[in-house]
Amino acid sequence: MRFSKIKDNDIANGLGITMSFWTQGCPHRCKGCFNKETWDYNGGKEFTKDNLDYILTNINKNNIKRDLSILGGEPLCEQNIHGVIELCKEFKRHYPDKTIYLWTGYTLENFNYIQKKILNYVDVLIDGKFEEENKNLSIMLRGSSNQRVIDVKKTLREENIALHEVC
Ligand code: SF4
Repeated sequence: MRFSKIKDNDIANGLGITMSFWTQGCPHRCKGCFNKETWDYNGGKEFTKDNLDYILTNINKNNIKRDLSILGGEPLCEQNIHGVIELCKEFKRHYPDKTIYLWTGYTLENFNYIQKKILNYVDVLIDGKFEEENKNLSIMLRGSSNQRVIDVKKTLREENIALHEVC
Protein backbone atom coordinates (compact mmCIF):
# COMPACT_ATOMS: atom_id res chain seq x y z
CA MET A 1 0.00 0.00 0.00
CA ARG A 2 1.14 3.53 -0.74
CA PHE A 3 -0.04 6.62 1.06
CA SER A 4 -0.12 10.33 0.45
CA LYS A 5 -0.03 11.81 3.95
CA ILE A 6 -0.94 11.49 7.61
CA LYS A 7 -2.46 14.44 9.46
CA ASP A 8 -2.22 14.20 13.24
CA ASN A 9 -5.07 16.56 14.08
CA ASP A 10 -7.96 16.86 11.65
CA ILE A 11 -11.34 18.39 12.41
CA ALA A 12 -12.75 18.21 8.86
CA ASN A 13 -12.98 14.45 8.35
CA GLY A 14 -14.87 12.96 11.27
CA LEU A 15 -17.08 13.87 14.20
CA GLY A 16 -14.51 15.35 16.54
CA ILE A 17 -10.75 15.16 16.13
CA THR A 18 -9.23 12.45 13.97
CA MET A 19 -5.83 11.38 12.83
CA SER A 20 -6.36 11.21 9.09
CA PHE A 21 -4.60 8.93 6.65
CA TRP A 22 -4.73 9.45 2.87
CA THR A 23 -4.00 6.44 0.69
CA GLN A 24 -2.32 6.93 -2.70
CA GLY A 25 -3.80 5.79 -6.02
CA CYS A 26 -7.34 6.09 -7.34
CA PRO A 27 -9.13 4.48 -10.29
CA HIS A 28 -12.27 6.63 -10.23
CA ARG A 29 -11.14 9.88 -11.90
CA CYS A 30 -14.18 11.82 -10.62
CA LYS A 31 -14.80 15.05 -12.51
CA GLY A 32 -14.00 17.95 -10.21
CA CYS A 33 -11.88 15.82 -7.85
CA PHE A 34 -10.26 18.02 -5.22
CA ASN A 35 -7.47 15.54 -4.53
CA LYS A 36 -5.93 14.73 -7.92
CA GLU A 37 -2.43 14.37 -6.51
CA THR A 38 -3.59 11.08 -4.99
CA TRP A 39 -4.52 9.48 -8.36
CA ASP A 40 -1.04 8.24 -9.31
CA TYR A 41 -0.41 4.73 -7.96
CA ASN A 42 3.32 5.42 -7.97
CA GLY A 43 3.06 8.68 -6.06
CA GLY A 44 3.29 9.13 -2.32
CA LYS A 45 5.27 6.71 -0.15
CA GLU A 46 5.22 3.04 0.65
CA PHE A 47 3.43 2.37 3.94
CA THR A 48 5.86 0.74 6.35
CA LYS A 49 5.82 -0.79 9.82
CA ASP A 50 7.22 2.53 11.08
CA ASN A 51 4.18 4.34 9.69
CA LEU A 52 1.85 1.86 11.37
CA ASP A 53 3.72 2.29 14.65
CA TYR A 54 3.49 6.05 14.25
CA ILE A 55 -0.31 5.87 14.01
CA LEU A 56 -0.66 3.46 16.93
CA THR A 57 1.71 5.42 19.13
CA ASN A 58 0.46 8.92 18.39
CA ILE A 59 -3.29 8.46 18.18
CA ASN A 60 -3.61 9.71 21.79
CA LYS A 61 -0.65 12.11 21.70
CA ASN A 62 -0.93 15.03 24.13
CA ASN A 63 -3.94 13.38 25.73
CA ILE A 64 -6.16 14.31 22.82
CA LYS A 65 -8.86 11.77 22.04
CA ARG A 66 -8.64 11.03 18.34
CA ASP A 67 -10.40 8.60 16.07
CA LEU A 68 -8.97 7.38 12.76
CA SER A 69 -10.06 8.53 9.29
CA ILE A 70 -8.95 6.78 6.12
CA LEU A 71 -9.36 8.68 2.87
CA GLY A 72 -7.88 8.70 -0.61
CA GLY A 73 -7.17 8.24 -3.31
CA GLU A 74 -9.08 5.02 -3.04
CA PRO A 75 -8.45 2.96 0.11
CA LEU A 76 -10.32 -0.02 -1.31
CA CYS A 77 -8.70 -0.35 -4.76
CA GLU A 78 -6.81 -3.59 -5.28
CA GLN A 79 -3.45 -1.87 -4.73
CA ASN A 80 -4.48 -0.62 -1.26
CA ILE A 81 -7.16 -2.92 0.10
CA HIS A 82 -4.86 -5.47 1.75
CA GLY A 83 -2.77 -2.80 3.45
CA VAL A 84 -5.87 -0.95 4.61
CA ILE A 85 -7.36 -4.13 6.06
CA GLU A 86 -4.13 -4.79 7.97
CA LEU A 87 -4.01 -1.21 9.24
CA CYS A 88 -7.63 -1.35 10.42
CA LYS A 89 -7.15 -4.77 12.00
CA GLU A 90 -4.11 -3.63 13.99
CA PHE A 91 -5.76 -0.36 14.93
CA LYS A 92 -8.86 -2.11 16.30
CA ARG A 93 -6.71 -4.66 18.12
CA HIS A 94 -5.10 -1.79 20.03
CA TYR A 95 -8.09 0.55 20.17
CA PRO A 96 -11.35 -1.41 19.91
CA ASP A 97 -13.42 1.52 21.19
CA LYS A 98 -12.15 4.09 18.75
CA THR A 99 -14.10 4.90 15.60
CA ILE A 100 -12.69 4.24 12.13
CA TYR A 101 -14.13 6.37 9.33
CA LEU A 102 -13.41 5.31 5.76
CA TRP A 103 -14.17 7.07 2.47
CA THR A 104 -14.50 5.10 -0.75
CA GLY A 105 -15.64 5.83 -4.28
CA TYR A 106 -17.16 2.36 -4.51
CA THR A 107 -20.70 1.72 -3.29
CA LEU A 108 -21.27 -0.82 -0.56
CA GLU A 109 -23.66 -2.93 -2.62
CA ASN A 110 -20.91 -3.43 -5.20
CA PHE A 111 -18.07 -4.35 -2.85
CA ASN A 112 -16.23 -7.48 -3.89
CA TYR A 113 -15.40 -10.32 -1.53
CA ILE A 114 -12.14 -8.75 -0.34
CA GLN A 115 -13.56 -5.25 0.02
CA LYS A 116 -16.32 -6.62 2.25
CA LYS A 117 -13.70 -7.71 4.78
CA ILE A 118 -13.14 -4.07 5.71
CA LEU A 119 -16.65 -4.03 7.22
CA ASN A 120 -15.27 -6.06 10.14
CA TYR A 121 -13.28 -3.02 11.25
CA VAL A 122 -14.77 0.20 9.89
CA ASP A 123 -17.48 1.94 11.92
CA VAL A 124 -18.54 4.71 9.57
CA LEU A 125 -18.35 4.24 5.81
CA ILE A 126 -18.79 7.15 3.41
CA ASP A 127 -19.40 5.60 0.01
CA GLY A 128 -19.88 6.70 -3.60
CA LYS A 129 -17.90 8.75 -6.08
CA PHE A 130 -17.75 12.52 -5.91
CA GLU A 131 -20.31 13.86 -8.41
CA GLU A 132 -19.67 17.44 -9.42
CA GLU A 133 -23.29 17.96 -10.47
CA ASN A 134 -24.37 16.97 -6.96
CA LYS A 135 -21.65 18.93 -5.18
CA ASN A 136 -22.77 20.18 -1.77
CA LEU A 137 -20.20 21.36 0.73
CA SER A 138 -22.75 22.02 3.46
CA ILE A 139 -23.51 18.36 4.17
CA MET A 140 -21.49 16.58 6.82
CA LEU A 141 -18.53 14.42 5.81
CA ARG A 142 -19.44 14.40 2.10
CA GLY A 143 -18.61 16.40 -1.00
CA SER A 144 -21.71 15.51 -3.01
CA SER A 145 -25.25 14.54 -2.06
CA ASN A 146 -25.15 11.09 -3.71
CA GLN A 147 -22.62 9.94 -1.12
CA ARG A 148 -23.90 8.16 1.99
CA VAL A 149 -22.68 8.12 5.57
CA ILE A 150 -23.31 4.54 6.63
CA ASP A 151 -23.43 3.12 10.14
CA VAL A 152 -21.60 -0.13 9.41
CA LYS A 153 -22.41 -2.06 12.60
CA LYS A 154 -26.12 -1.29 12.32
CA THR A 155 -26.06 -2.16 8.63
CA LEU A 156 -24.54 -5.57 9.36
CA ARG A 157 -26.91 -6.19 12.26
CA GLU A 158 -30.03 -5.29 10.28
CA GLU A 159 -28.73 -6.67 6.97
CA ASN A 160 -29.92 -3.44 5.38
CA ILE A 161 -28.15 -0.15 4.68
CA ALA A 162 -28.45 2.02 7.81
CA LEU A 163 -27.47 5.65 7.50
CA HIS A 164 -25.54 7.23 10.36
CA GLU A 165 -27.90 9.04 12.73
CA VAL A 166 -25.82 12.17 13.23
CA CYS A 167 -25.29 12.80 9.53
S1 SF4 B 1 -12.70 8.86 -5.45
FE1 SF4 B 1 -11.94 10.69 -4.39
S2 SF4 B 1 -9.77 10.83 -4.92
FE2 SF4 B 1 -10.70 9.41 -6.37
S3 SF4 B 1 -11.21 10.68 -8.15
FE3 SF4 B 1 -13.04 10.56 -6.84
S4 SF4 B 1 -12.92 12.39 -5.52
FE4 SF4 B 1 -10.88 12.06 -6.41
